[in-house]
Amino acid sequence: MKNSDKSINPNAFANILKNSKKLDVQSLANEILEGNIASLSKGLTYAESSLKAHRLIANQLLSILYSKSGKSIRIGITGIPGVGKSTFIESLGLYLANQGLKVAVLAIDPSSSKTKGSILGDKTRMNDLSQHPLAFIRPSPSSGSLGGVAKKTRESIFLCEAAGFEVILIETVGVGQSETSVKSMVDFFVLLMLAGAGDELQGIKRGIMEMTDLLVVNKADGENKRAAQVAAAEYKRAMHLFPPNLNEWIPEVSTASAIENTGIDTIWEIIKKFENQQKTKGYFQNERELQNEEWFKTFFSQELEDLILEDSLIKQVYESSLENVKSLRLHPHQAVADILSQIKDRLKS
Ligand code: GDP
Repeated sequence: MKNSDKSINPNAFANILKNSKKLDVQSLANEILEGNIASLSKGLTYAESSLKAHRLIANQLLSILYSKSGKSIRIGITGIPGVGKSTFIESLGLYLANQGLKVAVLAIDPSSSKTKGSILGDKTRMNDLSQHPLAFIRPSPSSGSLGGVAKKTRESIFLCEAAGFEVILIETVGVGQSETSVKSMVDFFVLLMLAGAGDELQGIKRGIMEMTDLLVVNKADGENKRAAQVAAAEYKRAMHLFPPNLNEWIPEVSTASAIENTGIDTIWEIIKKFENQQKTKGYFQNERELQNEEWFKTFFSQELEDLILEDSLIKQVYESSLENVKSLRLHPHQAVADILSQIKDRLKS
């Protein structure tokens, strides 16, 4: 070691390391803001990771980019497997990208770890769109529970927006819970349906229809065209019976053929109409603020719970209480009261 090196204070060295790490995240953020796709992918990988070190980087990154995001329309698209989601997203995505809009495609698929990627896993399904210079397709993060995957998807939306994507299409499988979770992070919710298959068969519960802003009867082509139009008229009647939305939007029903690219322009017009109307009336911003609030509150509760359960004694009480609650030996309110008193004791000691 050279003499001069001895003068380096170890704390100063640690600070240099810390700062250089900060600098890395800052430059990664800058690259994302410039629309660098490789950097965006890197950022998304941090956001999707469960490793603590990666989570820290993702948090820093999102903190820098948070106020720079938000400038897109977020569209959720759902429907049972086989209804044509991938084909529809490719068709709509290409239509928009060809108009010069930057389009990102994300997915919520809690089942993908089991089925090895039932949606978006196979990139060839959106071959043309994935090759378009203005499009970016990110397969579903493959791990974890719905909550985990949904959390990652929300962060991914913000990263894509920071990278300048103007339309974010979020695909979800029709398994009930994932739609509700996608609804809490999008501006506009599209439900794809088929003519001739009963609603029950399509796994569509009333709740999902009620949160739909646009119902599209897909595969309106060939022999199926007439049936699709009839089904659309029926859905229109049925949806008019639902209570009106607080945001005054009257859900629309449309037909499309993702394969023949018909109806796509009308669908985009409807989405633009929604956006203009909601922005003029102030609902658009209001809904986003509510979603951010919800995000904060859910995250806070989750983190607080994790922090509390880091204490092994409290964790023990929590787990035994849970068992007792399940078998009716303990009332949930009493169980929570017991745990809270444990926490208070620990805080005092
Ligand atoms: P997903 O599982 O909902 O993503 O559905 P896919 O996009 O993979 O489509 C399922 C099948 O339906 C594929 O064989 C597609 O070629 C077909 N398909 C998708 N859209 C249309 C359409 O508009 N018309 C017709 N006739 N077939 C379609």
